[in-house]
Amino acid sequence: TTLLEFKNVSKQYGHDTKALSDVSFAVKEGEFVSVIGPSGAGKSTLLRCINRMIEASEGEILFDGTNVLKLGKKDLKRLRTRIGMIFQHYNLVNRLSVIENVLHGRLGYKSTLAGALGFYSEEEKRQAYGILRILGLEDHVYKRCDQLSGGQKQRVGIARALVQDPKMLLCDEPIASLDPKASKVIMDHLKNISDKMGITVVVNLHQVDAALKYSDRIIGVNKGTVVYDGAPDRISGEV
Ligand code: ADP
Ligand code: ADP
Repeated sequence: TTLLEFKNVSKQYGHDTKALSDVSFAVKEGEFVSVIGPSGAGKSTLLRCINRMIEASEGEILFDGTNVLKLGKKDLKRLRTRIGMIFQHYNLVNRLSVIENVLHGRLGYKSTLAGALGFYSEEEKRQAYGILRILGLEDHVYKRCDQLSGGQKQRVGIARALVQDPKMLLCDEPIASLDPKASKVIMDHLKNISDKMGITVVVNLHQVDAALKYSDRIIGVNKGTVVYDGAPDRISGEV
C-alpha cells in the first residue's frame, strides 16, 4: 500500500527560485527510498515539504491518504509525531544529556520543558533506554551531547525520532558530516529500522554508493524535477 504520494508538487522561494517543479512520486509502506541529486537539486526542500517544515506552493502531498497541505494546526502536530526527522547537523540540545534529548522529542523541539527528567513517566524512560540500547548508546545515556562523536550524535537523533513511534523516518543528509566508518553504522541502523521495525525510510543522500547499496528505490532529482525513479540496479548501469 502507498504511504506517501506527491502529486504535481511545486515549491517556489521568493520570485525567481523554483526549487521543485511538478514533482510526482509514490512511496510504499516499508520501503527504503533514497533521494539523490547534486547540491541545490531540491532534495532538502522535497523532504521538508512532507512534514511542512517548508510549505509547498502547489500540488498535493498525501500521507496515509490525507493531504498534509490541508491540515490545520492540531492535525499537523499529530502528523509530525508520525513522521520522525533526522538532520545533517543532528539538531540536538548540546547542554542536555542523551536521555533528555531523546525524551525531549516527545514534547516537540520548541518545548521549554527540556531538561526536566522528572517530568517523564517511568514507562517513557524505559522505552527511551530500550531504544538507546538498540542504537548501541547504553554507555552514554547520561553524557552531555556535546561530549559525543558525530556518529553518536546522529544515533541520538535517530533515537529521538524513534521514541515517538513514527510510521516514517525522514533523513536529511544524515551522513554528510560523518566519516566512512560512522556513515556505515548510521546507514546500517536505518536499514535495520526499515527491515525490523517496518518503518518507511526516506533519506536524502549525495553519496550515490550508499544509496545504491541500501535502498529499495532511488528517486533522482535535478533542478527541481524527478529525473529517475526506480530500482537501484537499473540506475547502476546509467551512472
Ligand atoms: P538540495 O537539498 O538538493 O541541496 P535545496 O532543497 O536545499 O537543495 O535547494 C533547492 C534550491 O532552492 C536551491 O537553488 C536553493 O538555493 C534554493 N533554496 C533553498 N532554501 C531556500 C530558501 N529558504 N530561500 C530561498 N531559496 C532557497
Ligand atoms: P509545540 O510548538 O507546541 O511544542 P511542535 O509543532 O513544535 O509543537 O511539535 C509538535 C510535534 O511535531 C512534536 O511531536 C514534535 O516532535 C514534532 N516536530 C516539531 N518540530 C519538528 C521538526 N522540525 N521536524 C520534525 N518534527 C517536528
